[in-house]
Amino acid sequence: MKNLIIAIDGAAGSGKSTTARLVAQRLKYLHIDTGAMYRAVALAVLQNDIDPEEKDAVEKLVENLRIRLRQNNGVEVLLNDKQVTDLIRRSDVTSIVSTISSYERVRAKLVEEQRAMGKNGGVVLEGRDIGTIVFPDADIKLFFVADIEERARRRCRELADKGEHVDFETILRDIKSRDYFDSTRNISPLKKADDAITIDTSNISIDEQVEKVLSIVMKKQNGKQLVKE
Ligand code: C5P
Repeated sequence: MKNLIIAIDGAAGSGKSTTARLVAQRLKYLHIDTGAMYRAVALAVLQNDIDPEEKDAVEKLVENLRIRLRQNNGVEVLLNDKQVTDLIRRSDVTSIVSTISSYERVRAKLVEEQRAMGKNGGVVLEGRDIGTIVFPDADIKLFFVADIEERARRRCRELADKGEHVDFETILRDIKSRDYFDSTRNISPLKKADDAITIDTSNISIDEQVEKVLSIVMKKQNGKQLVKE
């Protein structure tokens, strides 16, 4: 069996992270959560009291950061060798991550690391620009979409599971503004690659999402042509 590069892109709350993690587990592949890497940079910006709007200061900071993803029963995120897996999910990080991820040198550094981690295959990478920029020649490209209110409900549940209670309207506003920012930025905007397969997760369970992706993987492994939706 060939070690594939699987690229999953999509907006916040579209289900791509959970599905990517479970698909990677089933295939014994590495799960590369690229959003977590941008979040780690955002956390470092906060920890160093840098104004996120100060592009030069953020770009200078990123040069000296060490961001690693460690597979340990799920993905652990290390920032300068410190474990920050939960810290990067905080809402103060979420509120600045789109700003810092629009900076050219931030993207250049992280994309280089993502390519290095994924180049030998056996990986599920998820993010916003995997099928368009990071691995435009990925073996499988998927684009997850879902109804915005359903995405907001999922984010609320996720945060509530972690003990953070944020009201639905706030989350909805945050998702709308991140969608807007991520899809309208000049560099690597969130965009479906022309040859990506769209998966609408609004009305399907996580198990169904995983099965859908695995069936696409099986078809690819059997040399069948993938059909775009
Ligand atoms: O996936 P997640 O919602 O954790 O990503 C956080 C943010 O990181 C996104 O809103 C986006 O601004 C940025 N991001 C990106 N490119 C990626 C992955 C994430 O710009 N490949």
